[in-house]
Amino acid sequence: MFLLKFTEIPGDLNKINREFIGNPIDEFTDIYERFTNLYAIKSLISDDELHKRPLKNRKNRVCRFCGVPFSAEERFKSKAHLLPELIGNKNLFSDFECDKCNSLFGKYETDLANFLGASRAFSIANARSGGLKFKSPDKTFIVQKDPEGPRSVPKLRIESHEEINDHFTLDAENKKVTFRTTRPSYNPHHVFKALLKMGLSVLPDQYVSDYEIAFAILRSVKKNEEPDNPLYKLNVYVHPGPAFPSPMVILFEKKQKTDEIPTHIICIMFHSYTYQLVLPLNKKDKWMFDGEKIVTVPNMPPFIDKHFAARFGMPKGHCLNLNLDELKRNEKHEMTFTFEDYTDTRLNE
Ligand SMILES: [Zn+2]
Repeated sequence: MFLLKFTEIPGDLNKINREFIGNPIDEFTDIYERFTNLYAIKSLISDDELHKRPLKNRKNRVCRFCGVPFSAEERFKSKAHLLPELIGNKNLFSDFECDKCNSLFGKYETDLANFLGASRAFSIANARSGGLKFKSPDKTFIVQKDPEGPRSVPKLRIESHEEINDHFTLDAENKKVTFRTTRPSYNPHHVFKALLKMGLSVLPDQYVSDYEIAFAILRSVKKNEEPDNPLYKLNVYVHPGPAFPSPMVILFEKKQKTDEIPTHIICIMFHSYTYQLVLPLNKKDKWMFDGEKIVTVPNMPPFIDKHFAARFGMPKGHCLNLNLDELKRNEKHEMTFTFEDYTDTRLNE
């Protein structure tokens, strides 16, 4: 049984313990039970002390993504992150990603950053230490650490220019504020590839050869022409309340080899998001692609403790279609936050 439980370490706000316990939110108990009957955790990687590991000497490295070994031409010089820095990874590095692949994946991550848009700037980490300034494409909505406040106080400054843009709605009664802005242009299929790369990075070594086609797709420059391939659709939950303290990726494996469901499912958790996707095209999943069987991907519950949800609100799920392989411009982006209290300073003027 597993669900995330957060426990604060007194005196250190940056550190929060978490553990998996069986405490599903009532509304998700059925989905939770069905899913955990079918799948078990195979591997879990999280940016915390438990998951740091020594890296192989550069001379012994081989790229997991393109197969190239260390040589005079490929020296594995870049400091490749196991999970992207932009989702909050500070300490996990990779010893199986060559410089060429690292630079390709950097491009996918730029699309992921643009897709996440303002939500990255709203993080508590940014309120504490700053460094990230979001500016909407039309420059009328800005989120950054308050440049005028003392550095030690976590505080964000959100600027909304031109009332016509209708940037926010304050619901004082329900203690909710919704911000509306625009995402910088991004390529949805590259966002999928950035997430797929995270999934393929947590695979135990012995599974890598099962995913030859997925690795080829990840590196391929061939355009995805299908608008509706179910492989590139995923499930997302957004939870209100404090964000995940650090990013985490879980690899789930089906318990019964004979079950007609995908072998692996990946769950990527960071900020206030949980992205759930099938790790595609495992060679053991060939039966899925013969066009004769209907493939059902079991729903996944959000791995949020029910006490956490009772305090901060229910996670909301939606489907995301990442088939489109061209630039998406001016996409609307809406974010809702809960708050404890507010002061209307207009009264003091
Ligand atoms: Zn490579």
